[in-house]
Amino acid sequence: MSDSHFTRAPYACAPHATKGRRYTEPAPGNRSEFQRDRDRIIHANAFRRLAYKTQVFVNHEGDWFRTRLTHSLEVAQIARVIARSLGLDEDLTEAIALAHDLGHTPFGHAGQDELNRCMKTLAPETGGFEHNLQSLRVVDELEERYPDFNGLNLCFETREGILKHCSLANARELGDVGQRFLDRTEPSLEAQLANLADEIAYNNHDIDDGLRSGLITLPQMREVPIFAEHFDRVTKTRPDLPERRAVAETIRQMINTLIMDVTQTTLKRLEQSQPKNVEDVRISPSMVAFSDDMRQQANDLKAFLLKELYRHYQVTRMTNKARRIVRCLFEAFLDDPALLPPAYRRADQNAQARAISDYIAAMTDRFAIVEYGRVFKMDETF
Ligand code: MG
Repeated sequence: MSDSHFTRAPYACAPHATKGRRYTEPAPGNRSEFQRDRDRIIHANAFRRLAYKTQVFVNHEGDWFRTRLTHSLEVAQIARVIARSLGLDEDLTEAIALAHDLGHTPFGHAGQDELNRCMKTLAPETGGFEHNLQSLRVVDELEERYPDFNGLNLCFETREGILKHCSLANARELGDVGQRFLDRTEPSLEAQLANLADEIAYNNHDIDDGLRSGLITLPQMREVPIFAEHFDRVTKTRPDLPERRAVAETIRQMINTLIMDVTQTTLKRLEQSQPKNVEDVRISPSMVAFSDDMRQQANDLKAFLLKELYRHYQVTRMTNKARRIVRCLFEAFLDDPALLPPAYRRADQNAQARAISDYIAAMTDRFAIVEYGRVFKMDETF
């Protein structure tokens, strides 16, 4: 087993002690169980499609903005750095980070909210659409790559990390990975970490993309304490830097500050609660966290981005178009499943709604736009 390049702490998940896969497979010969999960995720169809899905900027708005793929790589990078400092399993952390957005719809949160609304109103018995649950559904059911099972047949620990949130109604149906929502226990530290690394990544890259797009401005950003503090330090020590480079350096330093803060805060909490193994971790309060001061600063930054970027009128216009595409496709397909490719037709009404939501959720931004044209516009060929 080639996982001896880092020292695993007793509270980390160990690949040889995994709770296992849904379908038993022979142990891998040349890599750990969690490395195998990470590798399977990278080869998945849904992973490649992340390249053409976005959360803030729709893909065709510019190819210099983050996509869900580059976002996922940044999350994995941040999570791995912290994982090594904490003695966690880096491969598991990376696997969870790379898979965390696999279930995302086209057009980011707008697409997901609209799909959920469609499912809840037009097929209420389905329990709606949740993107975390959909990520799990992708790796458990929807990928068709292996001869003997659906999905990627990942380890429990990876699946647990992918399912960040889940309604209690859905948790009851899920069995093993749903149980912690009913028991109100925590997931592994690797899962907690991937979750926080997600927040560090998007807060910082959305500042970068927001400034580059011109939707938010530098004077606005300088009203946000955490940005102002770092930007002032950069421009004081390097007054010669052109603005773009000073911004890049500011963001680099902010990411570093956040990583250091999480690492130190978490080490302190580990010291206090002394978990002896991963089962202790699960029954303790969550341990991967920002310090109180940094939590507040991160919240202020999030509130700023919500108000000034995610709800910017130009973003809202795009969001509105995205919602309409998702809504119109869903309604048309449910109304007449004969419009669907045959593989997505079902006899039962709820199963039909779920298959439509799987079909739409898998679409890239571009595919959804083209599909809308094919279904609704006379001048499109089919
Ligand atoms: Mg994410």
